Amino acid sequence: APRLPSAAGASPAMAQWFAAKAAHPEALLFFRMGDFYELFFADAEAASEALDIALTYRGEHQGEKIPMCGVPAHSHESYLARLIRRGFRVAIAEQMETPEEAKRRKASAVRREVVRLVTPGTVTEEALLEASRPAWLLALAPEEGRLGAAWLDLSTGAFETEALAAEDLPALLARLEPAELLAPAFLALPGAVEANPPRDGARRLAEAYGVATLEGFGAFSAAEAAAAAMALDYVRATQKGEAGRALPHLSRPVPRGGRGALQMDAATRRSLEILRSDRGGPRDCLLGAVDRTVTAAGARLLADRLGCPLAEAAPIAARHDAVAALLAAPGLRATLRAALKGAPDMARALGRLALDRFAPRDLAAIRDGLTRAAAIAAALARPEGLAVVPPLLAESARALRPTDDPAPELARALAETLPARLDDAGIVAAGYDGQLDGLRRLRDDARGAIAALQLDLAQAWGVAALKVRHHQQFGYLAELPAAAGERLLREPPPRASGDFAPIHRQTMANGVRFTCAALAGLDRRLSEAAEEAGRRERAITRHLRDLCLAAAAGIADAAEALAEIDIHAAAAELAAGGGWCRPEITERPEFCITAGRHPVVAAALARNRGPAFVPNDCDLSPGRRICLLTGPNMAGKSTFLRQNALIAVLAQAGLFVPAESARLGLVDRLFSRVGASDDLAGGRSTFMVEMAETAAILNLAGPNSLVVLDEVGRGTATWDGLAIAWAALEALHDRTRCRTIFATHFHELTALAGKLPELTPATMRVREWKGEVVFLHSVAPGTAEKSWGLHVAKLAGVPRAVLARAAQVLTALEARARGLDPLSDELPLFARPAAPAPAGAAASGQHPALAALAALDPDALSPREAQEALYRLKSLV
Ligand code: ADP
Repeated sequence: APRLPSAAGASPAMAQWFAAKAAHPEALLFFRMGDFYELFFADAEAASEALDIALTYRGEHQGEKIPMCGVPAHSHESYLARLIRRGFRVAIAEQMETPEEAKRRKASAVRREVVRLVTPGTVTEEALLEASRPAWLLALAPEEGRLGAAWLDLSTGAFETEALAAEDLPALLARLEPAELLAPAFLALPGAVEANPPRDGARRLAEAYGVATLEGFGAFSAAEAAAAAMALDYVRATQKGEAGRALPHLSRPVPRGGRGALQMDAATRRSLEILRSDRGGPRDCLLGAVDRTVTAAGARLLADRLGCPLAEAAPIAARHDAVAALLAAPGLRATLRAALKGAPDMARALGRLALDRFAPRDLAAIRDGLTRAAAIAAALARPEGLAVVPPLLAESARALRPTDDPAPELARALAETLPARLDDAGIVAAGYDGQLDGLRRLRDDARGAIAALQLDLAQAWGVAALKVRHHQQFGYLAELPAAAGERLLREPPPRASGDFAPIHRQTMANGVRFTCAALAGLDRRLSEAAEEAGRRERAITRHLRDLCLAAAAGIADAAEALAEIDIHAAAAELAAGGGWCRPEITERPEFCITAGRHPVVAAALARNRGPAFVPNDCDLSPGRRICLLTGPNMAGKSTFLRQNALIAVLAQAGLFVPAESARLGLVDRLFSRVGASDDLAGGRSTFMVEMAETAAILNLAGPNSLVVLDEVGRGTATWDGLAIAWAALEALHDRTRCRTIFATHFHELTALAGKLPELTPATMRVREWKGEVVFLHSVAPGTAEKSWGLHVAKLAGVPRAVLARAAQVLTALEARARGLDPLSDELPLFARPAAPAPAGAAASGQHPALAALAALDPDALSPREAQEALYRLKSLV
């Protein structure tokens, strides 16, 4: 961190700044000065660069100018958002009194305090959040060999825990993608905020929730309680104000446990691109391709479900029942989706209300959200086209009507159009509160009275051109033209006396400003009425907030129910689009899919009006648990591998699947190793990563797991790779006994088909047409006849000379392989072909490569020509 000067000799305000900065050295300090938040010294330099705003100077400290930049308080959120996204933490120091109050207590500067620490895991403002993603704050507490994990989303109040083995941490991080991580320093997690678990976690947690013991919360380990207490402490420390005292909105921590969930490690999530794709845009991941939700909360819940599918048959079937019902009742589905569309995000509005960081629109969000909820409950009470409402939907319908519903009162209380900020007037509707109406009338009457007084003064002072105007500094003043003003000063008419006696305020170039007792009195009454109305309005706003908070649990349940209905209706909508079916979930280790498709690739082909996606069957049922898939590159192997894994994810998340039919035995762990897996940052070679991942599968997969593996052993010398792939296949078949699709280049492996009874060979069909290769993208029983590598190389634009040479080598290799022991070191690779000499080169007796090199003019070559020339030269050596 850049060095700060010492605080010695600082002005009173700067002394406050130094004190606040010393308490929060790791954060940028937003220091409130009137209408701006200002940053100083190194903070100013960092922020001006990150925000691209001007760096200036203000005053001096120890003889040096103080670097400074500032952002307007009324629009500071967007600046905050940019800083948080750039990885900064921000401490906000507010003015805790008005300048008048400071003057009254004879202080030399208004009192300021850091009221909040803004960090990536504790933000609640709309501008700082992603609407369709949770913002998890994750705390880790190691205890007796286990790891307690607790994660909370302050913006919605969600709070969950889990105890896990240390080696499962990467999988948890991949699942949650936490916005912020708290962990003790000795765990050495990059980017983590250092924090230590308290010793009495369970007691502190019980205290925070006002219960005697945690028993009622479910089965908690000590490690989970410690992690949860750690997260709460951090929230308190960052929120300081309201939340620091009461934590009103966080739900009770729910132990998630690993048992009921489909386990996927970090590599599997990356490989399947479930919630994001590293290569493409938002539509190129599973979530993007299947998301038909119409609310942000629904999108968040869907992401949660796809990221953490279930592994128990009954709750999965319950979700499928809900989807099936809404698929069968298109009228009801349309009604529900229309009512959901545009429904406000009640969970996040409630979060802001609870933290006392809300805007008028958050109250409106509760009103409108509950109104929609009631409409949806009514639609489900008379379900168009449905004989029975399935249990999950019925449960949601009940939750849509909270027992104490603040919506009717909010509807009466809130004005039709709301101001943006809480400090603005006009939040409360006319007719809601008699006292407020009275004050507003007084204020409006006083306006009329001002107009009347203007007439009276014009007569009394004998100046027709007199105007009463409002001035920021002086309040209401009477303005006279210069000459009339001078005359009034010199010889006031007799009627300009008493309450109407003019008091001079200001002479300007073209006018003179006066007040008088009558005007001042009216001005006072007017501003008092406005102030009083403001106070009353704020009190009513607080009352409305309290009303919402008193009903918080019910509102949160209703919000959750809306999200649930949204995802069931969305899944039905997706299935209605055609060709999606309800998967049958069984407890036997079967896996039988007819006409399955890859949801992302199929959607992309349809979008780009490309060739139609070719559906493929997959049967890994007992007796044929391992599918050995061969076929050239680009034939569709990885697509097939991923689509079957994704179908398992979709099914167990509770959605329908892109297939004609699917019967799936529950999967407890899913492993996917498809696509390159370089660990450049970790400094491990591709092969090392591949072997570590293969080891994980062989160690962790069991008879109920599903494994899709692409080209094990590709990263090393042929025979090593083949040997490892061979041994891995045998182990998967004999020991692990999991359902497996194993794609390979090693055609030699098909020899295993005879030896391993449950292994069935399959291949991607390819056709040769006029010497070109045509990929049919369909999976057929059997083995590829040849690997078509040269054809693919040609498609990819490998220079012709190289292709020709490769064809020569290949023929020689194949001829040899037919009669040779493959391990002989006399491979024909090393037999040099006779290269045709370029014209003119041979005559001079020069080596043909040298002659060709001499003939090259490097400056005249395009990069591509240069590369071709290089290949040509190489073939001459
Ligand atoms: P491989 O893993 O065999 O190299 P991919 O699975 O990456 O091949 O597929 C290559 C391309 O072929 C994909 O990008 C896709 O456009 C197309 N493709 C794959 N499978 C299908 C299919 N079933 N139907 C239509 N096109 C497909």
